[in-house]
Amino acid sequence: MTDCIFCKIANGTIAAKKILETDTVVAFMDIAPQSPVHALVVPKSHIRNITELSAQPANITTDVVAAINSVAKECGISESGFRVVTNTGDNGGQTVDHLHFHVLGGRSMTWPPG
Ligand code: AMP
Repeated sequence: MTDCIFCKIANGTIAAKKILETDTVVAFMDIAPQSPVHALVVPKSHIRNITELSAQPANITTDVVAAINSVAKECGISESGFRVVTNTGDNGGQTVDHLHFHVLGGRSMTWPPG
């Protein structure tokens, strides 16, 4: 999608601090980190949010999960623990309409979230 910021990061039009990239997924550091480690794991294809994910080829989901675990290891939070969040729609607080998973770690998380 031409005006989507995460499509532009995925295709290299916009720079980002990339952590990993596969044929189907890209992961990069969030520009406004909410924790010492705050990465975003994003499928390269333009999927609006998780409500559209199950209609996609199954490998997209497994590739995203594998990337989340690779990012956690790469960023040193796999053992200490981390949180994965995908905000969905207006009430979910989604501000970028391209499916992404926040990977947050490096500190203790509180519950419930705001
Ligand atoms: P959400 O509000 O759940 O849709 O998350 C969108 C996230 O994208 C926010 O945490 C933003 O800080 C992050 N973000 C927006 N633009 C960029 C960018 N150019 N590079 C990295 N992260 C970004």
